[in-house]
Amino acid sequence: MKTSYVASALAMSLALAFPVHAADAGKNAVVQEAPLRAHLQFLASDLLEGRGTGQRGGDLTVAYLEAQAMALGLKPGNGNSFRQPVLIAGVKTQPADSTLKLEAGGKPLDISFGKDWVFSPGDATAVHNFNADLVFVGYGITAPDEQWNDYKGMDLKGKILVMMVNDPQPTAEQPNRFNGKGLTYYGRWTYKFEEAQRQGAAGVLLIHTTPTASYGWSVIQNSWSGVERFQLAAGTLGTPLQGWMTDDTARALFTAAGQDLDALRAAAEKKDFKPVPLAAKLNGEMKAAVRKVEQFNVAAVVPGTDPKLKDEVVIYSAHWDHLGKQGDSGDTIFNGAVDNASGSAALLAMAAEAQRVPARRSQMFLWVAAEEQGLLGSAAYASSPLWPLTRTAANLNLDSLNFVGATRDIGTQGSERTELGKLAETAAKAMGMQIAAAKPDLAGGYFRSDHFNFAKNGVPAFSISSGRDYIKDPEAAKAKAQAYGKRYHQVSDEYDASWDLSGMVQTAQYTLNLGRLIANAAKLPEWKAGDAFAVPRN
Ligand SMILES: [Zn+2]
Repeated sequence: MKTSYVASALAMSLALAFPVHAADAGKNAVVQEAPLRAHLQFLASDLLEGRGTGQRGGDLTVAYLEAQAMALGLKPGNGNSFRQPVLIAGVKTQPADSTLKLEAGGKPLDISFGKDWVFSPGDATAVHNFNADLVFVGYGITAPDEQWNDYKGMDLKGKILVMMVNDPQPTAEQPNRFNGKGLTYYGRWTYKFEEAQRQGAAGVLLIHTTPTASYGWSVIQNSWSGVERFQLAAGTLGTPLQGWMTDDTARALFTAAGQDLDALRAAAEKKDFKPVPLAAKLNGEMKAAVRKVEQFNVAAVVPGTDPKLKDEVVIYSAHWDHLGKQGDSGDTIFNGAVDNASGSAALLAMAAEAQRVPARRSQMFLWVAAEEQGLLGSAAYASSPLWPLTRTAANLNLDSLNFVGATRDIGTQGSERTELGKLAETAAKAMGMQIAAAKPDLAGGYFRSDHFNFAKNGVPAFSISSGRDYIKDPEAAKAKAQAYGKRYHQVSDEYDASWDLSGMVQTAQYTLNLGRLIANAAKLPEWKAGDAFAVPRN
């Protein structure tokens, strides 16, 4: 009888120390389904109008996240505010008012905006005048980890750089260069624009081909002509001109300039490639309508318990925005229940538990803005971090969670690039799960989610995604998950009260457990030596 008296006294004292959740005496952070479901249902409801950037629904979402963070007793992440302003520019090229033209061999090319080429300012500026020389720079890559430099021997300030997308292809001698068949970040068009800006160029024209871009010209035409494009309006801006041309336009241009495009492409596959000035120019005025929109990231902190380690932080992130309200007939609301009301709701449910059972390091819950417009909120965060990146242990991102059911595995693609890989396995094992087998990253998925803005600045980071090995009714569950493809970025991405959220809770729990492992570890995780992103946190 005595023993049980001691046990119950112990249970009593633990219960007093952690007054909520009697279930396991409060020592474990256990993500609860009820709040996750409630937040998900609300964030995905028509009332929030699809959480659009620059729309009322977006403002309401920010106010809701802020109110919930306050109600949980979290600390504001930005001084005494939960909000971090993100200044965004909406830019729409006005081709009819622009006189921009390409000249080669002394004559203007007969090309039209949309069909043959597209352009837009990369620096949120409405009017630009160009009189600039064109230079072919191959893949436009500077890659110290591959000892590669396409810009060698030439000052490219003020030039218009014409370049190929993708990255140098594997050869018989070097089957693994630039990750073999997989896409490296050097191959992404976002990298090309960033590198051109670092080179001081006046602009970039990318040469499109379907195999190198992995999508057809119509995808570029639809997203670059007749629509408003969003970019950051403060911090690091892009080059004055950004654009694409079709393969046919490039051929006409190079031929008129007295060059052989195929021969230059072949030369660009070699390490000794040097920039090739073209007898061609970009001339005239480019006009665009530019409006500025202020959006907000929402940041809330659970302080760490260790007097020293509490100055370091683990950041959990999820984008709160989706596509908002568009059009004026039928269903006009892009609810984004899976994408990404699910991740936003999960972060709230996780924050409640992190607050109840804190860790040695601090933990930040970061809901970022404008992911759908090109990862803008996370880019703004990385360029003006609320917590020094040198003291940021890791970023774990959630985007579009499992609404189908619990799994035996969990997706941690990208974790293997850093010491997080090992911790990811430990966390999975502790939950009786396995790490899902990594697939070759042919389309560069690692570079298309918010965690990447942390990775680029040296912070170990990846997104946690659903497993595929469903425990209950595996065939039906798999079919349900696959059918989501048809609802992706459609008005039909809506919440359904019949959803089995066991998989979503499992993912949130896993993410929190892993974050706590990082937050309680002896030292900050590092990149594996030789990785392209193995740079000091900055
Ligand atoms: Zn998303």
